[in-house]
Amino acid sequence: MSTMTKPYDQWESYHDIDRYGKLTLSNIEFTTTNLCNMRCAHCAVGYTLQTKEAAAIPSEEIIKRLDSVETLRVMSFTGGEPLLTKRGIRDNLLPLLKYAKSRGIKTQINSNLTLPMSHYELVAPYLDVMHISHNWCDEREFVETGFAMMEQKPSIEKRASLYRNILDNARELSKGGMFVSAETMLNRNTVPFIEKIHHEVADEMLCKRHEIHPMYASDFASALDVINLDEYRDVVNQILDFRNEDIWILFGTLPFYPCSTDERDKALLSRIHEASNITIRNDVDGRSRMNLNIFTGDVSVSDFTDDGAALGNIKTASLEEIYTKWLSTNISSSINCHCPAVKCLGPNIIVKNMYYPTQKFTSGTVKGDYSHA
Ligand code: SF4
Repeated sequence: MSTMTKPYDQWESYHDIDRYGKLTLSNIEFTTTNLCNMRCAHCAVGYTLQTKEAAAIPSEEIIKRLDSVETLRVMSFTGGEPLLTKRGIRDNLLPLLKYAKSRGIKTQINSNLTLPMSHYELVAPYLDVMHISHNWCDEREFVETGFAMMEQKPSIEKRASLYRNILDNARELSKGGMFVSAETMLNRNTVPFIEKIHHEVADEMLCKRHEIHPMYASDFASALDVINLDEYRDVVNQILDFRNEDIWILFGTLPFYPCSTDERDKALLSRIHEASNITIRNDVDGRSRMNLNIFTGDVSVSDFTDDGAALGNIKTASLEEIYTKWLSTNISSSINCHCPAVKCLGPNIIVKNMYYPTQKFTSGTVKGDYSHA
């Protein structure tokens, strides 16, 4: 008898296709601060960070817009560091977290996990996933890379103590029952350390999930070396060899698709599909998710779009109107291939540009009898 288990991924965009038969706005990411106590070399929003917070749109106005999105089922909070100040937590985060809870909407906060435990305790009762980026090979690397883009850096001792906070906080929050999910981005810096990082995430930090994504060549991260597809395939196979099977591994924006004619890609996807406790997530950006900046009201497809331009603003349009407008854009059409047989929604725009700049992905390429749907 097979004992394979696949955890249910609440953030998966394909749930909307199963439920509504089409791409649907079900996921909002909120930018709730432009402040952060770090300036990581790989930060995806590095150039938007500030040192002083602007006034946010009142949460009642934001909630009014959310009320009209009946299909909303997940919300994420990002920054900056959304938990940096207690004032920010109280004024900007808690009203939205409580609202989500009242509607049964699942929530995630993206934190660097360096802060005092009292910050995390404020949101714990309302939160489903504490998501952290964990790309650190060791303390020395954190001390250097985590503050690489900062002009006035804290002392080395202070920076090192923040590193230890990450490990301690993750372990304590996990022991307290919180679902802590650590994300590692694969690039030339992290790949040599990925086994160490994985076991740290699983065994020391006691995280429930390890997310593995490609390093996006965007914003502060644009200077970092991305790995090529052969390297990517190799490292994913290595992860499957050394992984701790007790922790859920989630491959996000995995740059291998069931329509590939490369036997090595097919073998890798088969390995993943036949393994317990491992899932692949279709990219949410532009499928189920848009980003709402609570200071400006601007709505964009994600922090990772090419031009970063807003599609609309909640002061003048509903979220559904903005989403419908997005789906009609050329950039959206260029990436929304779909193979129902394998529940695949294709590459996102950055992965396509990075790894498949000239390839045309055509919906329905993989037909109905594929065994890995
Ligand atoms: S949806 Fe696109 S990427 Fe996925 S299998 Fe089909 S053609 Fe390939």
